Amino acid sequence: MFPAAFEYKRAHSADEAVALLALYGAEARVLAGGQSLIPAMRYRLARPGVLVDINPIEELSYIRESDGDLRAGALARDATLERLAFIPERYALFADVSRVVADPVVRQMGTLVGSLCHNDPSGDWPVAALASRATVVVRGAAGTRTIPIDEFLVDSYATAVAEGELALEVRFPTPGPRTSGAYAKIERKVGDFATAAAAVQIALAADGTIAEAGVAIGAAGPHALRVTAAEALLHGVVPSREAIREAAEAARALADPIPDTRGSAEFKKDMAGVVVARALASALERLGVEDLR
Ligand SMILES: Cc1cc2nc3c(=O)[nH]c(=O)nc-3n(C[C@H](O)[C@H](O)[C@H](O)COP(=O)(O)OP(=O)(O)OC[C@H]3O[C@@H](n4cnc5c(N)ncnc54)[C@H](O)[C@@H]3O)c2cc1C
Repeated sequence: MFPAAFEYKRAHSADEAVALLALYGAEARVLAGGQSLIPAMRYRLARPGVLVDINPIEELSYIRESDGDLRAGALARDATLERLAFIPERYALFADVSRVVADPVVRQMGTLVGSLCHNDPSGDWPVAALASRATVVVRGAAGTRTIPIDEFLVDSYATAVAEGELALEVRFPTPGPRTSGAYAKIERKVGDFATAAAAVQIALAADGTIAEAGVAIGAAGPHALRVTAAEALLHGVVPSREAIREAAEAARALADPIPDTRGSAEFKKDMAGVVVARALASALERLGVEDLR
């Protein structure tokens, strides 16, 4: 199918994009990688009157460390992150994610920020952003806001980005010492959205106990979910098989997936626990904790 008719505007700076978004209001949608928006328009699930294309804004394509964060601009593509040598060393969770988002062709165009703005219930970046306690910087005519990811992800395909606003950048806190993470995804085939997915980020204290835990699941509700019960029960404990089993059970209990061609609700619920256990085991292995009791 062809998309419904729309006007096409190219923005050459963030300010110009914000001005266009303010001018066209509810009619306007930002075009980033187009990997979710264009298919939605072709199926007429989205019918924006005006597309504001931000692809000419080269200065938004950065991925860099700054002031204690890894910062990715609105045009930072999955493929760019995948190729950065320092990512696997310092951001193991994101290296895992960048290998399993869609397929290599989609990753050439798709952006991290676009994935957060799309907020697909089965999207990969929202899960990783929750576990790593990301924030999103958003700019509108009234100024710039920094939104914690828990407030940013509002509902399926809905975020805290208001009419007339552009999401400028996502910020992931740089992991401290003895901190690592992992992403586990069950997919039917390469390039598929998740049947179940989990992201974890673990910081160990000097005595080997878990000082901080970020645990999130995807494809398990209206949007990615933080498993606060798992985070609380992991906090302060010595990593063990029992702790992993309890965290996995907390994820299974929280998950409320919809049945579809990827599996029944009961199966996906069980898989939510399985991926949390796998991600925790991988993160702990990366931290040198292997012989779990
Ligand atoms: C075949 C296929 C398989 C896929 N598989 C997966 C998968 O396994 N996992 C996964 O997570 N994703 C998957 N995707 C989605 C893909 O990762 C998208 O690239 C991503 O979800 C959206 O990024 P984008 O840059 O393409 O955004 P776009 O499609 O350009 O935009 C998506 C939405 O976000 C809004 N938006 C984008 N950027 C901004 C901004 N800076 N400010 C405000 N609003 C903005 C747009 O207006 C639009 O509503 C798949 C896509 C395809 C086509």
